[in-house]
Amino acid sequence: MMHKILLMGPQGSGKGTEAEIFSERLNIPAFGMGQLIRDEIVTGSDFGKKMEEIILRGELVSDENAAHLLKLRLAKPDTENGYILDGYPRNISQYNAFDFDTPTHVLVIDIPRDESLKRLSGRLTCKGCGRVGAVSGDLKAGDLCGCGGEWYQRDDDTPEAITRRLEIYKNDTAPVIEKYGDLVKMIDGVGSIEVVTDRIEKVLA
Ligand SMILES: [Zn+2]
Repeated sequence: MMHKILLMGPQGSGKGTEAEIFSERLNIPAFGMGQLIRDEIVTGSDFGKKMEEIILRGELVSDENAAHLLKLRLAKPDTENGYILDGYPRNISQYNAFDFDTPTHVLVIDIPRDESLKRLSGRLTCKGCGRVGAVSGDLKAGDLCGCGGEWYQRDDDTPEAITRRLEIYKNDTAPVIEKYGDLVKMIDGVGSIEVVTDRIEKVLA
């Protein structure tokens, strides 16, 4: 069965973790736009160099360039049974640029703002690979990730900054969700990773 899954949800919804879980279960790749840009830069291609220059200038990669990167990625053979696209398209202009493929599932992991705030304020990010994790008995700021990078608390993970980002997400993503209509399945994101995984499994079945 073909699984072309768009996985959406606010920061702190756990969608990155669920993307990894279902990538393994369904044997399809999972990626987000940030990762595609980083991967392309690493290849040293002309297009990658162009992206790197844009980022070094402190500018954003255009929707057109992002869509081009995605098109290249979806042409690779490992996507023949589908893919999980994590957090894209996140606004209507990205939606309009993503006109070369049609998802089979649009999953939106929904969590209340208080839950987002709670989770994000205990969040750590790896300086090396950008992975996120939660502070726990096994993980604290300053520890090293498997990639060799250091786990740290982002400066912008303050309640005010988080609230602002959640507001932007809500405003930008609502029209995208509306566009996908019947493909959209809302997933309750409150609960353990396993519980949320089960909910997604049911929706995909
Ligand atoms: Zn890392």
